[in-house]
This record gives sequence, structure tokens and C-alpha cells, in this order.
Amino acid sequence: MDSAQIFVTVGGLALIAWTLWFFFGKREEEPVAASGKALYACPMHPWITSNEPTATCSICGMKLTSTSVE
Ligand SMILES: [Zn+2]
Repeated sequence: MDSAQIFVTVGGLALIAWTLWFFFGKREEEPVAASGKALYACPMHPWITSNEPTATCSICGMKLTSTSVE
């Protein structure tokens, strides 16, 4: 094995390591949109959400309840 072959092998491994780091290493940086915000949702239809404490469900008209996650 000559030095050029070693250089290519080491370079290839470094590139693979960098690629793995790029895709798996930065996941923890993803912003959490609902973090620290009061969010209200219908007890019957949890996908109906609002930031307004006085909001009501557009399907059943029930008052939305707080869904803040500790
Ligand atoms: Zn509802």
C-alpha cells in the first residue's frame, strides 16, 4: 500500500464520519415550536388548537383547555 492509497482511504473515512455527524449530530438543535407557550386544544378534537385562552373548538364549540406540557 503506497502513501497515495493511504491518503485516499483516510480521506474517505473522514468524509463518511463527517457525513454521519452532519446528519445525526445536529438533530438536537431542532427548534421546539411550542416550547414555553401556552397552547389550548379541544378535549374532543386535540388537533384543534389555539394560543387564545378564550378560543372555542370550530367543530363542537367547546372551550379549549390548556395542553401545556411540563
Ligand atoms: Zn371539539
